[in-house]
Formats: sequence, C-alpha cells, structure tokens
Amino acid sequence: MILIDGKKAASELREKLKQEVVELKSKYNKVPGLTVILIGDMTPSQIYVRNKEKSANEVGLKSEVIKYPDSIDEKTVLNKISELNNDETVSGILVQLPLPKHIDKQKIIETIDPSKDVDGLHPMNVGNLSSGYQGSIPCTPLGCYLLIKKIESNLVGKKAVMIGRSNLNGKAMAQLLLQEDCTVTITHSKTKNLREECLQADVIVAAVGIKELVKGDWIKKDAIVIDVGINKTDKGIVGDVDFDEVSKVARALTPVPGGVGPMTIACLLKNTIECFKRSQL
Ligand code: NAP
Repeated sequence: MILIDGKKAASELREKLKQEVVELKSKYNKVPGLTVILIGDMTPSQIYVRNKEKSANEVGLKSEVIKYPDSIDEKTVLNKISELNNDETVSGILVQLPLPKHIDKQKIIETIDPSKDVDGLHPMNVGNLSSGYQGSIPCTPLGCYLLIKKIESNLVGKKAVMIGRSNLNGKAMAQLLLQEDCTVTITHSKTKNLREECLQADVIVAAVGIKELVKGDWIKKDAIVIDVGINKTDKGIVGDVDFDEVSKVARALTPVPGGVGPMTIACLLKNTIECFKRSQL
C-alpha cells in the first residue's frame, strides 16, 4: 500500500511556490499578498490561521492577519473586505470559517472580490469551476486532486465516489474529477447503500466528519482513498476512514494527520499566487 505523504508533497509544492515568488518579484518588483480575517477566539481556527501565516511567510508572500473579537458587527467586517478588495497590495482574501452566528457567511463570501477569493467559495468561482473556466478552486479539493494525480496520472474512465456534498469539499472535488473524465458519484447523508457505492470506486474521497466511517470491506482492491476528515478523539485526531482496515486493501491512502491537511495550506498559497498572476495580465 502506498502511504500518500501529504507533508512531503506540500513541502515540495511550497518549494516550487517559493521559487515562483522570487521570479515574480524580479519581474514585477512586488510579491503576492494574502490577508486572512480571523473572527473570534476558537482555538482550531487560531491554529489554522497561524499555520497559514507561517507558510505564507515561508514562501515569501506578504501576509497579514486581521483579528476581530467574536462580538464584531457584520458591517465592520464587510467594510474591511471592501477596503481589501480595493487594496492593490492584497492578492488574496480569506475569511476563516466558521463565523459567529450573527455574521452571515454567504454575505461575507459574496462581498469578497471573486478575483481575490483564494478559498474559491464565491458563486462566481463555483460557477467557473463547474463550467471549466479559470478561477480559484477550493484549497482542500485542489490539494486532494494533486495527491490523487501523484498516484494516478490518467484518471480517464475511473469511477470516483465522493462521500459528502459540501461546497467546500465534495461538490468541488467532484467537478475536478469530472474534468479528468472520471465517472463521478456524489454521496451524502441520505444515500442508500453507501458501502455498495464505495465498493465500485477506483477513487474515494471521504469528507464527512464521522470518525472511521469508511471500513475495509467498503473498498475495492487497488482503490485510491483520500481522507479529508478531521475528527477529535481521545486518541488524537483521526479521519473519516478506518486507517488500519483500509490500509490492508487500498492501493493508496492518505494518513490523518499528515495527508490532506498540509496540502490544503500549500494550495492556499498556490491560489494566492495564481490570483496575483491573473491580476497582472
Ligand atoms: P460538512 O459541510 O459538514 O459536510 C459533511 C457532508 O457529509 C455532508 O454533505 C453530509 O451530507 C455528509 N454526510 C454526513 N453523514 C453522512 C453519512 N453517514 N454518509 C454519507 N455522507 C454523510 O463538512 P465539510 O466542511 O465538508 O468537512 C468534512 C470533514 O472534512 C470534516 O471532518 C472537516 O473537519 C474536514 N475538513 C478537513 C480539511 C482539511 O484540510 N483536511 C478541510 C476542510 C474540512 P448532507 O449534505 O446530506 O448533510
């Protein structure tokens, strides 16, 4: 079984991006800039944002984190986003999710200029992805896609099963694999016979949020299995895939942690650089 090393893949990608930033700096005399807005003091969000900032600095991006307390009003955040939309030094804007209840997530996403939407969640970018046009692709599916391609460069005709249909993960992942000419099935909480669906899959991407949901006897021999899940347990963080069981059957599998997570952050940096490059055209 191939253990898909997301840490190594992310480190290689960051190295490439670092080189690209050096080249962009010499060509344009400026570097791409990423601004992250963090609202509230939820520990996981704070850790994610710290990691994003550290990685952005590492590859030479200009990075900034704007922090607001939980009690901040929606208008102030929307005004800040509009200000950043008009700031030429900012190539990418990310508002860390989840948001406090009194702030409308959809309004926030739609206020970000689509050309700076490094999370790829603006309806314009969702439409671009499903139409096969250029635009930002959500970081986690993009990371999963790059990992899958490392294992199998030719995905034509493969059967791919997404477990989960969120905008952030399952739906975007399905579009990327459809573009590779896979036959894609998107499953969700109302799907009947999930095991039967999975048993037909050459590629499975699990993004559910239920610990070790996917079992060894759900997997076709030689399938590639990507585990997006992050579930806190007494044993630490585990994925949506039962690693011990599935690793005995699959051709390749991502570990949790050390699989998709590091690639998500590296792809955020990639998206920021892509936004910068498009803004220079
Ligand atoms: P989400 O928005 O809660 O979506 C979960 C999806 O799973 C929904 O579509 C839901 O179906 C489906 N689902 C729930 N129970 C199911 C079941 N028994 N069988 C099949 N499908 C089921 O979650 P998300 O934001 O996509 O995140 C999913 C997981 O990935 C979470 O653990 C999250 O922490 C993790 N994550 C990891 C990264 C990373 O970088 N590694 C990034 C983002 C998220 P319905 O639509 O019918 O409700």
